[in-house]
Formats: sequence, structure tokens, C-alpha cells
Amino acid sequence: MSDVFQLMDEMGHEQVVFCRHRGTDLKAIIAIHNTTMGPALGGCRMIPYASTDEALKDVLRLSRGMTYKCGLADVDFGGGKAVIIGDPLTDKTPEMFRALGRFVGGLNGRFFTGTDMGTTPEDFVHAARESDSFVGLPESHGGSGDTSVPTALGVLQGLKATAYHLWGSNSLEGKIIAVQGTGKVGGKLVQRLVEEGSTCIVADVNEERVQALCELYPEQVQPEGVARIHARECDIFSPCAVGGVIHDHSLNELKCRAVVGSANNQLAEDRHGDLLHQRGILYAPDYLVNAGGLIQVADELQGYREERVLQKTRAIYDMLLQIYRRSREENIPTCRAADRLVVERMRKVADFRQILLGFDRKG
Ligand code: NAD
Repeated sequence: MSDVFQLMDEMGHEQVVFCRHRGTDLKAIIAIHNTTMGPALGGCRMIPYASTDEALKDVLRLSRGMTYKCGLADVDFGGGKAVIIGDPLTDKTPEMFRALGRFVGGLNGRFFTGTDMGTTPEDFVHAARESDSFVGLPESHGGSGDTSVPTALGVLQGLKATAYHLWGSNSLEGKIIAVQGTGKVGGKLVQRLVEEGSTCIVADVNEERVQALCELYPEQVQPEGVARIHARECDIFSPCAVGGVIHDHSLNELKCRAVVGSANNQLAEDRHGDLLHQRGILYAPDYLVNAGGLIQVADELQGYREERVLQKTRAIYDMLLQIYRRSREENIPTCRAADRLVVERMRKVADFRQILLGFDRKG
């Protein structure tokens, strides 16, 4: 087993909580990376990890990513994440999620969580019986509903900002966008791009989804095979399916000016961001462009207001332009420019949060 404290020091974590309840066979790890900007917020995954070590490394990596994601999205939350070690298809029980609810509740508002890979809004209906620290519940239980709506809006804002930076106008009319994945986010994005007057080349392992879009918009949507979509000649490639799509091989085949999509962790490794920069392909950091869903669930904790969510999601446009400008001025890859912006924001917040709010014996 890795030295947890050493890993926490290397990655800058504040707190790691191992949660075990034998009666429900719950094995979970909660990692709180940084609470400078506010309580930690991040999803809860359930995966049959091969080892505790693998689960620990995943939760540490993901929670650190949430600090940066929250920082750029301008929500008053820090980075956190939870993982449950288990098979979501066979190991879930309502009681397991209630036990998780007790542990999360015990953190007294330092950590809020909701759905991620392997968990559903319904799972957290059980957890929410034990604590108020859950977001993304079904609408019937006070949740804010489908996050893919603001996520698709955020990606559209990212595409418009990219068009502005590259071509001096944020109009997407006449632009060719290759969309990989036409699920909840990709499907909505294609619809919005059609409204904007773009041509979309689409690919999905689910061919029925591709066919449905091509039939709906025969003039503006064309199909492509999943193996070739990234290599199609286009203005912007938009990965909206799986992560890790930008790797050594695919990178050399790209024939676009920019990569802007919703998929999480599009770069197989950080160095692929550097390579995109060297090739002169603009990369919109995925954790900014896909933050619409995060903005929506974070808003639930303030008393959900749809208009506020849309306003904050539209602000992805300006933030991305700032990142592009900085990347150009300092000649650094966009993902590094984004990281610098977050660190600067955190410093500013930490500075004024030294002001005492009121008397508190615990300081
Ligand atoms: P989804 O499951 O609804 O859609 C994904 C689509 O991609 C499916 O239609 C699937 O068939 C297709 N697909 C899978 N593998 C593929 C491949 N190799 N090539 C082409 N298509 C493939 O998921 P979603 O909610 O639309 O999310 C899409 C991406 O955006 C994911 O990476 C997700 O993590 C990320 N994301 C989603 C949200 C959200 O609010 N839904 C928020 C942030 C990030």
C-alpha cells in the first residue's frame, strides 16, 4: 500500500477519509483536496477497483482535478471526490448508500457529492436520508435535473469563444464540427450547432443515434465511422464520448484547428497538451468547457436558480478567451495557462478570507 501521507503531500491534499461498514460491505474513500474556495465538491464513483491502492490513487487524482474545475467555473467550492470499491451491477444496496450518507454527513459540510461513473441519482436518494450533503438527486427529490443541458450549452460557448479567437467572429455558421459521441451532451450539442448554421460530422458506437440525427438534419449532419472521426478534415474536433482520445497516434492524425468537447480527460497524458500546442492546435481545457453540469449541481446548494446556472455557464466563453490570450502571450499550452489562472484566483480568495467573520472559539 502506498504511503498515504506522502501522496497527499505530493498532490497537496488536506484530508483523506477511509470509510468501512462491514454490515453493508461499504468500502469507500473520500479525498478532500483543497477547501480554499469553499467546501469540497465532487462526484462519487463506484468501480470494482483491483486494489485499495488503485482506488486511492484514482480518488486523489480526481479530487485534485475538481479543485481546478471548481476554480475555473467560479463556483464557491473546492476539490473533492469519493470512490466506492465495488461492482455497481452486483454490489449496490440502499443500505450501503445510507451508510455512505452517515460518513459524508460526519464531515459536517466539508464535502458534498453526487453521481459519477457507476452511481445514479436514485442511489443518492438513499444516501440523502442520512445527510444533506448530496447533490444531483432526481427532480422528484428536489434535484435540478439533467445536467447535460448546461453541459452542452457550455461546450457551445467554448466553440464560440474558439471561433472568435481563431477567426475573429464567434459565429459558427458554415463551420465544420466533427462531433465524437452523440449521447446526452453530444446529441444536444449537434442540435444547437445545426441551429447555428454549422455542418456536423458525427460518429457514435451506437449507430442508431447517428442515423437519427442524419435523418433529422439531412442537409447539415453527415455520418462518419468511429475509427476515423478524429482524423476528418474539419474546423473543430469535439470529443463528447470517452476520455483519452488525444494520444500519440490520434494527435498526428488530427486535421482540425482546435479541440473543444465535453469528454472528461481528453488528453491521454498531460504532455499531449504540450504536443497540441506545438502543433498549433488550440485545445480548450475539458474541465472548463464541460463545467455546465458542475455549475448546475453546485447551484443546488445555494437554492437552485436556472437563470443563475445559465449565466455562469455562459461565462465559460470569457474564461476560455482569457486562457487562450494568456497561452498566446506567454507561449504556454492552454492547460497550463488554465492551471495558472486557478492558482492566482485561489491566492486572491485565500487573502481576503483571512478576514475574521465573527467570534469562533475554534479560530
Ligand atoms: P452519454 O453516455 O449519454 O453519451 C456518450 C455517447 O458516446 C454514447 O452515445 C456512446 O454510445 C458514445 N460512445 C462511447 N464510446 C464511443 C466511441 N469510442 N466513439 C464514439 N462514440 C462513443 O454521456 P454524456 O453524458 O453525453 O457524456 C459525454 C462525455 O461528456 C463523457 O465523457 C462525460 O464524462 C462528459 N461529461 C458529461 C457531463 C454531463 O452533464 N452529462 C458533464 C461533464 C462531462
